[in-house]
Formats: sequence, C-alpha cells, structure tokens
Amino acid sequence: MADTRYDCIVLGTGGVGSAALYHLASRDHRVLGLDQFPPGHDQGSSHGDTRIIRLVYFEHPDYVPLLHRAFDLWQQLGEQTTLDVFKRCGILQAGPGDGDVITGLRAAAQAHRLELNTLDKQAIAAQFPGFDVPEELTVLFDPNGGILRVEDCIRAHVSLAKAAGASLVIGEPVVSWQQIGDSVEVKTKQSTYQCNKLIVTPGPWATNQLPALSQHFRLLRKSQFWFDNDAPEYLLSNNCPVFLFEHGEHTFYGFPQVDEKGLKVADHAGGRFFKSPDKVDRTIDTQELESASLFLRQYLPKVGHQLNHHVACMYTMSPDGHFIVGQYPDAPNVQFAAGLSGHGFKFATVLGEALTDLTLHGRTDLPIDFLSPKRLSRN
Ligand SMILES: Cc1cc2nc3c(=O)[nH]c(=O)nc-3n(C[C@H](O)[C@H](O)[C@H](O)COP(=O)(O)OP(=O)(O)OC[C@H]3O[C@@H](n4cnc5c(N)ncnc54)[C@H](O)[C@@H]3O)c2cc1C
Repeated sequence: MADTRYDCIVLGTGGVGSAALYHLASRDHRVLGLDQFPPGHDQGSSHGDTRIIRLVYFEHPDYVPLLHRAFDLWQQLGEQTTLDVFKRCGILQAGPGDGDVITGLRAAAQAHRLELNTLDKQAIAAQFPGFDVPEELTVLFDPNGGILRVEDCIRAHVSLAKAAGASLVIGEPVVSWQQIGDSVEVKTKQSTYQCNKLIVTPGPWATNQLPALSQHFRLLRKSQFWFDNDAPEYLLSNNCPVFLFEHGEHTFYGFPQVDEKGLKVADHAGGRFFKSPDKVDRTIDTQELESASLFLRQYLPKVGHQLNHHVACMYTMSPDGHFIVGQYPDAPNVQFAAGLSGHGFKFATVLGEALTDLTLHGRTDLPIDFLSPKRLSRN
C-alpha cells in the first residue's frame, strides 16, 4: 500500500499552490501536491497564456515590497527552467488624472521612490506607435512591467518541485480535510492522506475548501479575447509593452502578441457574478466582445478586425479586493491563500514562499500582515 503520510500537503497546485509546493520541496520537506486537474489546466483562474506583472502598484502601495521579492523569484524561476516564463517589457498605463489608476500609481511611486515616466502624445507616437491614447488622459510608463506565461510558470514550479522530491497526485478531487489533534487528515474521492501541515490554495473553489470563510468569497466570470493584429512591427512582444487603460467604467488591459492567436485584451472591471466554479458559462458574451472591440478601435486602431480566440476565466473576489492569506480559523496547522481578486498571479511566487514560512516556522519576514484574515472579523 502506498505511503500516505507527509510533512505537508498542498491542496490545489494552481498558481499559488505550485509555488508553495516548489518552496516546500526546495527546503527538503516531504511534500505532496494534490489537484483535481493537471498542472497548467484551463478550468480555474490560471489560464489564457499570459499575466501582467508590474511594480508600481495602483491597488495599494503595501504590495510593492512583496512585488520586489516576486520579481526576484520569477527571475530565478526563469533561470532554473527551460520554459520561457517571464519577460520584462514595461507597462503603459493611462487614465483620467484623478482616476483610481493614475492616483494610485502616483501614490505607490512616491511612497516607494519608484521610476514612473509621464509620456505625452508625441512621446507615445515615437516610442509605442501601435497606440493612440486620447489626449485628455494621463499616460505613465513603468519600466518594470512584464509578462508571465501563466501555464508555463505553473508547470515550471511543479516540475522543479518534483525534481526536488515532491510527490504529485492529479485527478483526485479533495472531498474534505480536518485538523485532528496535531495532524491533518485530507480525504479525496479515492484515498485518505495524513500530514503535519496543510496549505490550502483552492482558487475559485475557496467556498468549498475554506468553509469557515465562505461568506467572504464571490466568483466573477471574466473573458479574455485574442484579436488579429495588422501592425506586427509595433505590437509583438520584442518591442511593445503590456498596457492597462482606465476608460470610462472599464479598465482594459492587454499584451503584445506572443503567438499566432494574436493580441490579447480583457476588462479588469465588469464581469458577471456566479455561484459554482464547476458551472461557469464559457461562451462568448456579445456585449463584452463589443466593448473590447470598441476599446481597440480607439486605442489600438491596427488591432481587432477579427476575433481569433476567446476563453472565460474566474476571479475570486474578497470583500475589499485584497488577498486573504494566513492561518485558517481554529486550525493552527493549516495555512491558506485565497480571494486573490483578479490580481494575484504576479504574487504567486512570493505567496508560495510566505505560506512555506508560515507552515514551517509559524511566521514570515515577508510583509503580509495587511492580507491577514483577521481584518475580515473587524469589518
Ligand atoms: C482573465 C484573468 C486575468 C487575470 N490577469 C491577471 C494579471 O494580469 N496579473 C495578475 O497578477 N493576476 C491576474 N489574474 C488573477 C490571477 O490569475 C489569479 O489571482 C491567480 O491565478 C489565482 O491563483 P490560485 O492559485 O489562487 O488559483 P488557481 O490557479 O485556479 O488554482 C487553484 C487550484 O486548486 C485546485 N483545487 C481546487 N479545489 C480542489 C479540490 N477540491 N481538489 C483538488 N484540487 C482542487 C484547482 O483545480 C486549481 O488547480 C487574472 C485572472 C483572470 C481570471
């Protein structure tokens, strides 16, 4: 009979869980990763080829120290794998001068003395000729923006974890887990596993796997669209930044073209709330498609005559839009990260490291206190 006792189990080897598995295995712990789907699958929150990473963080300046560490760890991952996981290309961000994006960028840049360059229309035309940003918007360029190849990041973490001794069991949905005394029991449809410590990184399945916190999570369906590109000379990844533009009630973002599917855009605002991650509607919403096309016509006029590809994905929203990371209530041997609210992938490396610290030492030097679940009971 197979040995089913581990130092630590990671429940969910998607974005954050694959990084946690890697960090635990690298520190010589006997670790098991459990997932219902294979690494790099397209059923959760970590698919669609690409994710943005950026340093000047408009959502809150407190994320910046974590981002410094995240950049270092993505760089190191890139050096350890043959997969092309991370590329720095800068990020062009625009919006009304008093809007959330521009105000937040300026606050983060000032708080952490970060480089952030203002570009006027001529500078944009000279440096990034694929873009046509309305004159009335403020445009800021952060040289520390980049592209993460989302599925390959996960595959790289998992394969390095396995090379360091981690076990991986795929295709066994976890039915329940429970701390019993000083040990944790994890039941899947097929087996029962024991471990000293458990890390739960369930993505959009947070409501099922973190029941004591389920009232804090809401699922939001998001679409990603790939369009044809008539200006490859400007809009391929060797000479084009990632971008994020606050535009009326939308916040469109996108990537230079990285493969034959074309240039990808999506709206960080909007989307539809729904109940079950197993029943998300994956069809095209014509209104979302229309608003993405209108955006492209105005800001990237050489793109978007034809839709090449579409996928639906899921955000797991927390009440305040900030991640929830720390110890599960009344279970000192269980740490978790959830509610990443549609901006968590860039932090996967550093959250995996923080969860590993919490699991092995009960504390971390990484500044994650502002993400603690304790804030939820204060509201
Ligand atoms: C369209 C879209 C665009 C985004 N863009 C960006 C961006 O540009 N930059 C950025 O930083 N972030 C972005 N995000 C957010 C980011 O992708 C997510 O925050 C992040 O990927 C979530 O990672 P996760 O590990 O929490 O979830 P996931 O990667 O979904 O992993 C959860 C894993 O848990 C497993 N699991 C759950 N329940 C069970 C169970 N019972 N048994 C076994 N396994 C289980 C799942 O199968 C899954 O593999 C975007 C998200 C979307 C949807």
